[in-house]
Amino acid sequence: MSMGNDPQGGAKASGHPLGGGLGVFLFLLLFGAAGYLTYRTLTNAPIPSAQGEESMFVCSETNKPFPYTVKDGDQYPVDSPFSKKKTGFPGEPCYWTKDGKRKKEATWVLLNSFVGKDGDTKCPDCGRIVVGHNPPPGPEVPLAN
Ligand SMILES: [Zn+2]
Repeated sequence: MSMGNDPQGGAKASGHPLGGGLGVFLFLLLFGAAGYLTYRTLTNAPIPSAQGEESMFVCSETNKPFPYTVKDGDQYPVDSPFSKKKTGFPGEPCYWTKDGKRKKEATWVLLNSFVGKDGDTKCPDCGRIVVGHNPPPGPEVPLAN
């Protein structure tokens, strides 16, 4: 039985030859990553939908949602896989159910303003008015089954 008897103990206490250098390296790596992310956030701030990120779009002909990754130089509307035409607009999520509960899977809604229609946009599922950057129900709203 050799429990409690650590032959490496002395070596650890005196310090590994790489210990200090590795620490400095990790620090510089983390510091550099944080700085890079801050830079990216600041320079990307004015662009609302981040390029290269998948988001949900709605086809204005079929009203069906589809995921789409915005590419450099894209303009709205984008190609819809349903109509095979440029009828894809950014969707707004609605997390309400008809009886006023929260649901996990959003209904993706096409805003009237995107397609030049007047008046409020109503969610086809729950009938609530949907706006740009549609606010989700708060945590006080009970979750639907
Ligand atoms: Zn809804």
